[in-house]
Amino acid sequence: MSNQHSYEGSCFCGEVRFTVTGEPQAMGYCHCESCRHWSAGPVNAFTLWKPEALEITRGADKIGTYHKTPASYRKWCSSCGGHLFTDHPEAGLIDVYAAVIPELPFEAGVHVHYQEAFLRIKDGVTKMKDVPAELGGSGETMAE
Ligand SMILES: [Zn+2]
Ligand SMILES: [Zn+2]
Repeated sequence: MSNQHSYEGSCFCGEVRFTVTGEPQAMGYCHCESCRHWSAGPVNAFTLWKPEALEITRGADKIGTYHKTPASYRKWCSSCGGHLFTDHPEAGLIDVYAAVIPELPFEAGVHVHYQEAFLRIKDGVTKMKDVPAELGGSGETMAE
C-alpha cells in the first residue's frame, strides 16, 4: 500500500474527512434521474472504488445514509448536508463524487444512463444507454 497514492477529500464543511487510496475502478458521468434529483444537479461526476480503498479519517458519526433502492446507499454530512458517496453494495463498489476529491485527476471514461440525460455533453466519450453489462445493464451505447 505504501507506494499507492492517496487522495484526501471532505464534505462541504470539513467535519467529515476521508482518503481514497490507489486508482479508481472507473470514472465518468452519471445522467440518471436519481442522481439528478438527489444532487439537484444536471449530472453527477463519479469515481468508483473498491470499498477497502476508502478510509473515513474524521466525522464518521456525522455521515447520514438514505437508500431508495438496495442498489444505492447515498451518503452525506449531517452537519452541512454536503454529499459524499454512494455505496453500491450489490456491485461491491463505492462512488466517491469527483467534486469531493479535488486532488484526483478526474478523467471521464464513460457516460452512464445517457438515455436519461438532461444535459448532453459532446466530449467524444462513450455514451452508455444505461450501464455496462457486467453491472447488470444492457451494455448498449448510443449517440451523443
Ligand atoms: Zn459537512
Ligand atoms: Zn446515477
